[in-house]
Amino acid sequence: MVGSSIVRCLQSDGYDNLVLRTSSELDLRDQQAVANFFETHKPEYVFLAAAKVGGILANNTYRADFLYENLQIQNNVIHQSYKNDVAKLLFLGSSCIYPKLAPQPLREESLLTGELEPTNEPYAIAKIAGIKMCESYRRQYGCNFISVMPTNLYGPNDNYDLQASHVLPALIRKFHEAKVANQPTVEVWGSGAPRREFLHADDLGNACLYLMKNYDQESFVNVGVGTDLSIKELAEMVKQVVGFEGAIQWNTDKPDGTPRKLMDVSKLHKMGWNHTIDLATGLRITYQDFLTKMNEYL
Ligand code: GDP
Repeated sequence: MVGSSIVRCLQSDGYDNLVLRTSSELDLRDQQAVANFFETHKPEYVFLAAAKVGGILANNTYRADFLYENLQIQNNVIHQSYKNDVAKLLFLGSSCIYPKLAPQPLREESLLTGELEPTNEPYAIAKIAGIKMCESYRRQYGCNFISVMPTNLYGPNDNYDLQASHVLPALIRKFHEAKVANQPTVEVWGSGAPRREFLHADDLGNACLYLMKNYDQESFVNVGVGTDLSIKELAEMVKQVVGFEGAIQWNTDKPDGTPRKLMDVSKLHKMGWNHTIDLATGLRITYQDFLTKMNEYL
């Protein structure tokens, strides 16, 4: 989802010398394969958007895979970027790097000030290691490696698998399928009380390009919209966009996860960047995209 959005942004900005590989063409977990790729192609600028990602259930279930695969990917790409003199690398992290009970909105300075949310701790530890790699290669070797922390994302090419996906695509699929099948209820996980912030992937792609061009500092940068809503409010919005007329059933046997995850985006705003797609608009275009590409997504 993020990679394809960065590619769209680069192309619409006129960049046409893009070196792209799918995960089946190049396994970034494979140290030798990544070394060979960098030595052959010598990329000048690297966007490291590849990662093993998933929602609360996948993160909590495949804890070893989330830790191992993400560490492998970023170790290989960051180290080879250093060895092959990449001019600049942008590493993408996640808002889950922040302590579970950090003051909201989450400021960049809150990193490593408290305990992490247990459901996605392995993923968060890998992402924190990635931030520290960029910082350390910069300090020891003078590499221009920067890190960017996006909030919860959604958009084209999202994952709609109900066991692995994040909440927003899961709700689009659940409400859509319930509407089509004329079901009376839809099950939504947790209490509905947790609050989350949602950024459209195209806004993130745009922010990545902006930061690649304009930002060269060691400290990482949050990317978000600066406002959040409860899962209950989100469920009502998705229900309306999809046009489902039944009831919502809350399954409190499923975890709530972290109570709130709202980014402080003042650092990015001060640099002059702002998002352009509000949630109501983003939800409508994402549901249309889901309807068009359902066969590919499911
Ligand atoms: P998180 O932001 O890392 O917690 O990841 P998610 O996007 O998976 O979950 C966000 C919140 O939405 C949690 O409180 C979930 O319990 C809740 N939620 C409600 N229904 C669903 C669902 O169908 N799928 C997912 N993934 N989360 C859901």
